[in-house]
Amino acid sequence: MASLAILASLAGCNCQQAKVWQTPPVITPGNNCGEPPSDAIILFDGNDVSQWVSADGKSPIKWKVENGYMEVVPKSGNILTKRGFGDCQLHIEWATPAEVKGSDQKRGNSGVFLMNLYEVQVLDSYQNDTYFEGMAGAIYSQSPPWVNVCRPPGQWQSYDIIFHRPHFNGNKCIKPARMTIFQNGVMVQDNCELEGLTTKKPSFYQVHGDKEPLQLQDHNNPVRFRNIWIRELPESR
Ligand code: MG
Repeated sequence: MASLAILASLAGCNCQQAKVWQTPPVITPGNNCGEPPSDAIILFDGNDVSQWVSADGKSPIKWKVENGYMEVVPKSGNILTKRGFGDCQLHIEWATPAEVKGSDQKRGNSGVFLMNLYEVQVLDSYQNDTYFEGMAGAIYSQSPPWVNVCRPPGQWQSYDIIFHRPHFNGNKCIKPARMTIFQNGVMVQDNCELEGLTTKKPSFYQVHGDKEPLQLQDHNNPVRFRNIWIRELPESR
């Protein structure tokens, strides 16, 4: 079983090096979700999508907005915040479809891209096998979650993400990005240093601005999002 999981992991991500990971233990989360503090920038309150544009950077988003959430309309494209962010604390809630269709990476897939480039995977990882670095709570293709704390399909879940942007000097990355992630209040990534873009293998850093938009992914599954807020963090830490 373990060797099969490792083989699946390697086949799924084209990793540049063979890393052997253990299956993240399954645990049960508590019930609380996060309310925004007074200094948060509200990115989505359940109704207003004025902070967002389609991935072309100018068209209105084509995702469905109803009942306090927005939902991916498959093939309508990713969406971006109009504002850019660097170091930040992000809260976002998401739910994969209650009706389970597909398996592996085709089941409730979306993603939260910090700075438009660094993906925290969104996936229905409730009793759904896939490669570990592609599970919910993973920094996609780079770091599996410490535990699998996924709720069942259709239930609301939360990410609280602390992100520190990479720093560049000319074309060289002199300080890699780092992420800490809580899923449903449980830490799944601890100050993880990123190898570079999560969209490329082998991973590398590509120079970009100090602030870039937050992106949510249309991966052809009707994943829902609500209660999205962000706090800009001082860069000195
Ligand atoms: Mg994804």
